[in-house]
Amino acid sequence: MERYLMYLRKSRMDTDFEEVSIAETLSRHRTTLEKFCKSKRLNVVEVLEEVVSGESLAARPQMMRLLELVSTGSYAGVVCMDIERLSRGSSMESGYIMQILQVNGCKIVTPGKTYDLQNESDEQFTDMKFMFSRYELKTITKRLVRGRNQSASEGKFMGSMAPYGYRAYKLPGEKGNSLMIVPEEAKVVQMIFDMYGKQGIGYNTIAYKLNQMHIPSRVGEWGQTSIANIINNEVYLGKIRWRKEPVKRVVKDGMLAKKRVQNDDYELYDGRHEAIITEEQWACAKAAQAKRNHPPTHKERHLQNPFASILYCEKCGAIMKRKVPKKSRTCIPWYQCPTRGCDCKMIKCETVEKAIRDAMEEWLNNYIIQINSDQQPAEDPIAAALTAVRGQLAGLQLQQENICEYLEKGIYTVEMFSKRNASLAKEIKQLQTSEADLLRQQSEGDEKKRTSSQLIPTAQHILEHYSLLSVEEKNRLWKLVLKKATVYRTQDDELMIHIYPNLPQ
Ligand SMILES: [Zn+2]
Repeated sequence: MERYLMYLRKSRMDTDFEEVSIAETLSRHRTTLEKFCKSKRLNVVEVLEEVVSGESLAARPQMMRLLELVSTGSYAGVVCMDIERLSRGSSMESGYIMQILQVNGCKIVTPGKTYDLQNESDEQFTDMKFMFSRYELKTITKRLVRGRNQSASEGKFMGSMAPYGYRAYKLPGEKGNSLMIVPEEAKVVQMIFDMYGKQGIGYNTIAYKLNQMHIPSRVGEWGQTSIANIINNEVYLGKIRWRKEPVKRVVKDGMLAKKRVQNDDYELYDGRHEAIITEEQWACAKAAQAKRNHPPTHKERHLQNPFASILYCEKCGAIMKRKVPKKSRTCIPWYQCPTRGCDCKMIKCETVEKAIRDAMEEWLNNYIIQINSDQQPAEDPIAAALTAVRGQLAGLQLQQENICEYLEKGIYTVEMFSKRNASLAKEIKQLQTSEADLLRQQSEGDEKKRTSSQLIPTAQHILEHYSLLSVEEKNRLWKLVLKKATVYRTQDDELMIHIYPNLPQ
């Protein structure tokens, strides 16, 4: 018959309950574990109770004894309340304990789970948990949790660059940034809204006028894109825009499922910054926009431009327009920057197409080499953390069941019970939050992997079959592969092309 050892030790988890002495804690654990062993028919031949609560191995005589016994190789496993009871102390000591258990084929049996150290995935788990017990689990998971969404809902500014009219500043006495009005720029913003809304002037002409007046923009000259960005940005109303996650997670039949939501979907929060324009000015601009029938996104009915909506002028940032000169007999299409005053020369569409294909091919070759050279590490820290969190959760839930029993049996008074129960419930809730956050991160990670694994075949497909593709198909595929491309032809006919592959961030 297989022989087991039982190891009892008070852990940090029990310390919030001071009325119960170490001896009492241990006897409670002993009762729980004995019952557990009986139900599992585990033959416990010796019980080791650590009465001192030392950190180092030397200060834990029973652990030393345990290791001695395990080293004889005659035990199938060690039974304990929680895996954490075995470790604590330096990671070297944890590693040493682990190694002895592993070499002697000794399992760790807890009411929540049995860990077989011969099994590789379990070993990883144990490693992780030993490590976790050294730190406060809470601080680790807290670091993993990104509070961006919350900051936006608190009206803080989340971007990296303040919009024109504002400058970012660190909020005093709290985390995060907000925006401060830059008076000269704010006047220009109001002027732009008035020109567009009240006077009915278009983006392009507004840009031209501002350049004529020598009003500096943040990047070079004004263009229709920078004007459109201002007219369409709710930040000037004192709001903060928060783009919703592109993928929504829903729990379906107990499984995590992903649901795609529209990318241009965003939420508005009341900002911590002052507005530059009034609701009236905003409404007026929106009315002008509707009147002009400016579609918010660029869509072409008969698509002839393979780079529709992704090709920009490198100089001024405007979307490049595809033009076929009416007078020309050759009917050769050209790309032209629509910004009045921008010195980007016209470029033959054919030339741009060829240059982007070449750039893509070069990028792809480098990317494939890079991916092959940095092989993904085998361990997944998020998965390990998730297992750790779930393990602790199971342990806590078991403790919660136990205290109910103590109450029934009269071991606990009602007061003791409610105190302990409240602290357990709090810990459980924190762990559940951590679990949810980790799940979200894991799902984000999968999404990233999926995107980059799709990018290569899509790019290869487009390059290999280019001549066979329709314009619509080319455009659809380019949009999958590229975030955008920029082009600029200097006065000296030097052609500059940059591509921005659609890599996950
Ligand atoms: Zn331009």
